[in-house]
Amino acid sequence: MKRLPVTFWTTLFVTLVCVALVALDFERSWVARTVLLEHTERNATNLARAMSGHADDTLRAADNSLADLEERIEVDGTGPRQLERLHRLMVLHVRMLPQLNGMFFYDETGRWIANSRPRLDSDANNADREYFRHHRENKDTGAHIGKPVTSRSTGRWVIPLSRRIDKPDGSFGGVVLATIDIEYFRRFYASFDIGRDGAVGLLSDDGTLLVRRPFRSEAVGSSIARTPLYDAYTQVARTGTGIFRSTQDGQVRLNSYRPLANYPLFVTAALSKDEVLAHWWHDTLMRTAGVLLLAGLVALFGQRLVRLMRQRLQAETELRAARDALASVNVTLEKLALQDGLTGLANRRQFDVSLGNEFSRATRHGAPLGLAMIDVDNFKAYNDHYGHSAGDDCLRAVARAIRQQTPKRAGDLAARYGGEELAVLLPNTDAAGAEAVAERMRAAVQDLKLPHAGSPLGIVTISGGVASMVPRRGVDHAATLVERADGALYAAKGAGRNRICRQDDAAAT
Ligand code: GH3
Ligand code: MG
Ligand code: MG
Repeated sequence: MKRLPVTFWTTLFVTLVCVALVALDFERSWVARTVLLEHTERNATNLARAMSGHADDTLRAADNSLADLEERIEVDGTGPRQLERLHRLMVLHVRMLPQLNGMFFYDETGRWIANSRPRLDSDANNADREYFRHHRENKDTGAHIGKPVTSRSTGRWVIPLSRRIDKPDGSFGGVVLATIDIEYFRRFYASFDIGRDGAVGLLSDDGTLLVRRPFRSEAVGSSIARTPLYDAYTQVARTGTGIFRSTQDGQVRLNSYRPLANYPLFVTAALSKDEVLAHWWHDTLMRTAGVLLLAGLVALFGQRLVRLMRQRLQAETELRAARDALASVNVTLEKLALQDGLTGLANRRQFDVSLGNEFSRATRHGAPLGLAMIDVDNFKAYNDHYGHSAGDDCLRAVARAIRQQTPKRAGDLAARYGGEELAVLLPNTDAAGAEAVAERMRAAVQDLKLPHAGSPLGIVTISGGVASMVPRRGVDHAATLVERADGALYAAKGAGRNRICRQDDAAAT
């Protein structure tokens, strides 16, 4: 697999850091929101429980008073003295129970018989009231809670709580009524901390609204039947929570509702979701803005870092290329420094170095070191006849032939010794071997058949002298070998040219 560049991993890392930052913040905000809504739901539930208990207690206290009156009327009858006592009792109950607006007793025709007021309007008749008809038409059903009405005696909104009076024969004998002051609930509900947009309400099981905060007089007695909240209360569970849009003011609230323990009423406590979440939104937006800024900075610096890395990598690559180019130039220069410009053979300098090295090696190993000195015959005449430039071409051709015949073992080296004189270094080669190599060279040059007007043969030829020795440490010198080969060359020239002469160790000594 192809290795991915470091810039890729850096980009990936920076991207991951940015994504992780944003994701962690999102997760944190979501958890905070969930916790907040759970907390709100708990608050609403507790509030509904408290309201339900309070309403139940309020009604029970009034109902107890009514039951007391009912029993008294049924047992003591309605003589003038008894009615006088009844009035005093009613005044006492109303004074003791703040929720009571008034207490009333109507006979079977709806006529006012006794009440808690200082004055009794005996011409008034309540036979038209809903609760009166209810009790007249139904045998004892216990306490009855009617729809809220405005009191005929005080003009205030009241909830009628009533009980039927039976005559000794069991026939309808009238109604005792206690009116519960809606203002009493209003004051109690006003003391709750439910935020600016919260709402609480007391409703009857048939969906009639009795009290609500925020209070609107015209909403009292209206019906919330056929609303999602009412459907949830009647069809899903009588105790529960849910998020509903209010039909009263259109607000979306988290509602908790539950029934009263002993009366056909229920309460609902609702906290505005928007209001609860407003603070959370503010926090979340602030923090998200911070996190996005941070992520943006990380991304920006990451991008800069990657760009710098890329530039650096590119610089490194260019540097490496420059270094390689320099190295190859160096190799060329080195080669040029050791090479002869005209023939491409090793130059004199390299020959001297190689000769020294091979001489030492031969001394150490006790091995023979051969050398052939080669000189072009009658070259002065060639130059004179064909010109110096043609002489150069001729030298190049001769050098190529010599190189082709030079063995390719390590240490073998053909060099331009000077002028038109060439030297071939042959390690591990005795005199006979060196002579054979030089002879092949001579034959190769002759085979070139380069015309040479100034030569008796009519073509370019070479002469060579070879020598070989097993150097003795401290006795022989490299120069000795050159001198011997030179001597042999001299002999070859003297013997008529175009030939190879050998100077053996024996002959030299
Ligand atoms: P021989 O060696 O056969 O005795 O005769 P020769 O004419 O070759 O003798 P000598 O060594 O005296 O002459 C060498 C000539 O080679 C002298 C010089 O003009 C010529 N020469 C040396 N180097 C070069 C070179 O690089 N180019 C050319 N064109 N001529 C060269
Ligand atoms: Mg010569
Ligand atoms: Mg010469």
